[in-house]
Amino acid sequence: MDEFEFIKTCLAPLAGPEGLKLQDDAAVMTPLPGLDLILATDTMVEGVHFPNGHYGGDTAERLLRVNLSDLAAKTGRPVGYLLSIAWPKNVSAELMQGFASGLRDVQKAYDFRLYGGDTVSTSGPMVVTATLIGVVPEGQMVKRAEAQAGDDIWVTGSIGDACLGLKYVTGHDITPVPDGEALWLWEEAYLRPQPRLLIRKLLRKYASASIDVSDGLLADIGHITTASKLGCKIYTADVPLSAPTQKWLSGQGDSQKAIVELVTAGDDYEIVFTASPDHKEDIAREYKNLGVHVACIGQCMTGNDVTLLDPNNKSFYAEPAGYKHF
Ligand code: ADP
Ligand code: MG
Repeated sequence: MDEFEFIKTCLAPLAGPEGLKLQDDAAVMTPLPGLDLILATDTMVEGVHFPNGHYGGDTAERLLRVNLSDLAAKTGRPVGYLLSIAWPKNVSAELMQGFASGLRDVQKAYDFRLYGGDTVSTSGPMVVTATLIGVVPEGQMVKRAEAQAGDDIWVTGSIGDACLGLKYVTGHDITPVPDGEALWLWEEAYLRPQPRLLIRKLLRKYASASIDVSDGLLADIGHITTASKLGCKIYTADVPLSAPTQKWLSGQGDSQKAIVELVTAGDDYEIVFTASPDHKEDIAREYKNLGVHVACIGQCMTGNDVTLLDPNNKSFYAEPAGYKHF
């Protein structure tokens, strides 16, 4: 399938009115009064951000979901996106159609449209970029840099499932050998992260700062504390784990090393946020109506280390601010 046929048959049906049926040079959108636009872009490279040869729907879904997670952290509601694709030569029409149907599934689930993009072919690895456009009431986007010493640190969902899912998808051995249900949960967590858009109103109401977990729980908490010129302590026993991941952890000889692996691995696409302890009870009560679990896992402090505490509240690991995993 050539570029023009791909755009016409696979992409044009995904376009909103702003995209002018993908028959013009650019999209046009009229901003709504009283709303700010939130713009977030993510690029994925074959062999770096997704496994070699995964050209179909899985990659399309993950691309959009990862981007939606940025919008969720910044409390935006998605409305549209731009999409740039560099296809390796000789990709089959089936994979191209699969890619488009992955896009369609996510658009349907989260109600937003394709506005436009660019399509090229490459002799190198596949590269895909999505730029999401979201809206938020004027002035209400939650930033990274406004956490305060003494604020609680909260996280949605569960941590570490995607780390084990990536091991599974890339063919690494996992011990103890998990059952089928665990593998399914981990693989889903890696391939189809759930952007936590449902908590955006709670964040706008209570959060002093927020970020989504892409680099790793510790690294991303570090991005908040560095931007806010703080340190923090994290109670590892309170980090939320799914039942299969808890079971995996219990089967590891060195449990501290294993929990460090889970909290540094990344790809969780949960939301971490900070909030004044004055809001603790409101948050604990209100999240229950949202269908997203939220757990308090630590506190911001003066200083600049991200410190992990064991179940006896003894510190066993500290990551200096701004630590990079590669
Ligand atoms: P140009 O030659 O000006 O770059 P294109 O032929 O690349 O124009 O694009 C034609 C139309 O198709 C435009 O509206 C563009 O936004 C749309 N388009 C091209 N590639 C994509 C894509 N990957 N996703 C969405 N829209 C696309
Ligand atoms: Mg073009």
